[in-house]
Amino acid sequence: KEGTTQAFIGLEQRYGARNYHPVPVVVDRALDCLVWDVQGREYIDMMGAYSAVSHGHLHPRVVAAATRQLQKVAVTSRAYHSNTLGPFLEKLCSIAGFDRALPMNTGAEAVETAIKLARRWGYRAKGIADGQAEILVARGNFHGRTNTVISFSTEEDYKAGFGPFTPGFHHFDFGSMDSIRAAATANTCAVLVEPIQGEAGVIVPPAGFFRELRDWCTQNKVLLVDDEVQAGLGRTGKWFAFEHEGIRPDALILGKALGGGLLPVSAVLADAPVMDVFTPGSHGSTFGGNALAAAVALEGLRVLEEERLVERAAEIGPYLMERLREVQRQAGPLVRDVRGRGLWIGVDIDPALGSARRIVEKMAERGVLSKETHETVIRFAPPLTITTALIDKAVGIFAEVLAEART
Ligand code: PMP
Repeated sequence: KEGTTQAFIGLEQRYGARNYHPVPVVVDRALDCLVWDVQGREYIDMMGAYSAVSHGHLHPRVVAAATRQLQKVAVTSRAYHSNTLGPFLEKLCSIAGFDRALPMNTGAEAVETAIKLARRWGYRAKGIADGQAEILVARGNFHGRTNTVISFSTEEDYKAGFGPFTPGFHHFDFGSMDSIRAAATANTCAVLVEPIQGEAGVIVPPAGFFRELRDWCTQNKVLLVDDEVQAGLGRTGKWFAFEHEGIRPDALILGKALGGGLLPVSAVLADAPVMDVFTPGSHGSTFGGNALAAAVALEGLRVLEEERLVERAAEIGPYLMERLREVQRQAGPLVRDVRGRGLWIGVDIDPALGSARRIVEKMAERGVLSKETHETVIRFAPPLTITTALIDKAVGIFAEVLAEART
C-alpha cells in the first residue's frame, strides 16, 4: 500500500513540472473536514486548501448545485448570456455591497484585473498622464504568480530569473501610514493591499491602520484595492476583513472560497464609477463567469449565509486561537507567536524546533493537514465547518509533535 503512495508521487515527479514541493500525502477523497489518502488513512484538514475549502470538502448543497447545472450547460463563454451568471453577480454584489462584479477564475487573474482597472481609472478619472500610473503595494505582499504580479513581490525566490518586470509599483511597509505617505506621488492611482498578509506568515496590521489608510485614500483620490482572495468570505469571522475596521474599499478582490470549494472562481467588485472604466473589449476571460462556475459560486454564497458559516468562524476561531495559545504556554519561548483572526492562524516557531516544514510533515504522519509558510510559520485555516472536537484532536497532535521536536 505504501507503494501506491510512492507510485503516484513518482508519476507527478516524472511527468509534472517541479514547481511545487507537496507534503507526501496522496489524497484520494475528502468530505467536510476529513480527508483520506490512497492508503485509506484519515486526516483532519486544518489548512482547507489555503482557504479555498471554507464550506468543507464537497458540501452537499454545492455538489447538488453543480450536478444540477451539469445536466444543463457548463460553458458558454461570455459571448452569450447565461441564466446563472446574473443571479450570481446580484447575490455577490448584495452581500459585499458593491454595484458591480467582474468574474474571473483564479486569484492572480482577479488581481491582474484590479491592476488594469485601477490604472485605467487613474488615467480616466484622476487625469494621470498616460503611462505614468503608479500603484503602491506592501513589502511582504502576496497577490499571485503571474508576471505582472511577481513584478512587485519583495520575495527574491518568486522573482529570480523571471524578469523583465512590469514597472509602476512602489513599496510601503505593511501597517505603516508614514511609509505610504513617503511612497505616494501625484501619479498614485491605487494602494493594493491584503487586509492580513497570508503568505507572509499571517501578519495582522496594527489596529486603526486600515481606517487611516481609507481616509488617506479618500483625501488623495487614490483607490483602496483590497485583496481578500484569502481573507474574504468568512475566514476572519466577518464576511470581509475590511469590516473589522468599519471601512469599505474602492475595489474588492475575491477568489478561493468564492468557488464553493469546488471550482476556480474569482471576482473584482467595485462601484459603477470605477468599474465602468471597463468597456466591451477592455478585459475578459473565456471561462470567467461560466454557467457552471456561476451556479456553484451562487450556491456557495447561499450556503455561507444560510448555514451561518461566517458567524461560526467568529465563534470557533477564538476557540482555535485559545487552544493554540495553550500549546504556546506549554512550549514556552520556542513558540514565538500565535497570531491571526477568525479561523486563520499562524504559529511562529523558534528554528531550534526545526523547520516548520518538518513539523507539518510530522503532523501529516499523524493525521493532521497543515501548511508551512516560510521557514518558521505553521498555518491553520480549516474549513469554517470545523468542530471543537476536531480542533481538540488536531491541536493535541500538534502539541505532541512540538513536544517531540523539543527533545
Ligand atoms: N491574493 C492573495 C491574497 C492570495 O493569498 C493568493 C493565493 N495564495 C492569491 C492572490 C493568488 O490566488 P491564485 O493562487 O488563485 O492565483
